[in-house]
Amino acid sequence: MSSPHTFKVTAGIVCVMRRSYFTNSYFTDTPSGLVAIDAGMKSHGGDMLAALAELGRTPSDVRAILVTHWHNDHAAGAAELAEVTRAPVYYHQTEALHLTRVKAFAGVRGAISSWVPETGPLVLVKGLLGNAPQRAVAATHFVAHGQVILEEFEVIETPGHTEGHVSYYHLPTGTLFAGDALAVIAQRIRFMARPVTEDLEKARRSMQKCMDREIHFVCPGHREPLMTNAEAEVQRFRALLDSSTPWPLFG
Ligand SMILES: [Zn+2]
Ligand SMILES: [Zn+2]
Repeated sequence: MSSPHTFKVTAGIVCVMRRSYFTNSYFTDTPSGLVAIDAGMKSHGGDMLAALAELGRTPSDVRAILVTHWHNDHAAGAAELAEVTRAPVYYHQTEALHLTRVKAFAGVRGAISSWVPETGPLVLVKGLLGNAPQRAVAATHFVAHGQVILEEFEVIETPGHTEGHVSYYHLPTGTLFAGDALAVIAQRIRFMARPVTEDLEKARRSMQKCMDREIHFVCPGHREPLMTNAEAEVQRFRALLDSSTPWPLFG
């Protein structure tokens, strides 16, 4: 297994990036401990735990696990991370049927999913085939729009990519943890690709909601975070969203 690449977004925010899909999770330092945003791609949690070790931190430093949505590349490691750290898990109730595997596909499809190895690009395929991550993870808390978690993370309901998708806005630093509500490519905010967006109308409104915030950094679920000139870029993208620009096929 190749270890994820870890790097700082701000003094207190670390991005954990994998090679496949350039999938990101994050650790944010808060006065009450580390907060994980999404939990990566492996149900054994090895990628998150390796990142934690690289930071010189221990599982007991993790104070909370915030999940944006149920897709395997974001939630596969949540069960293990929760077990090892004993940290509470937060996500939207609408994602619960997937995350607790109630909606997991049984039969041939479910069996194929369980046989697919958690390797590289197969991780996402495995989750989509099974309609759930491999390991069920119960929420300690369901989140709702406007709620502030640990006095620092405001919940923004951002349905569209999935029905119960949420983003988290870190108030002290003006950082948007967007999950897959939007993309960032080459320091530009972009639409997600159309084929991976369940509901285009909702997804557009979700992005508009996010762009209302004063944003200094955008930490997306994939590829590199937006770390420079975010204010101007948010304004540009907000204007694009408000125009009648059709949703680009590949985002
Ligand atoms: Zn996703
Ligand atoms: Zn994703």
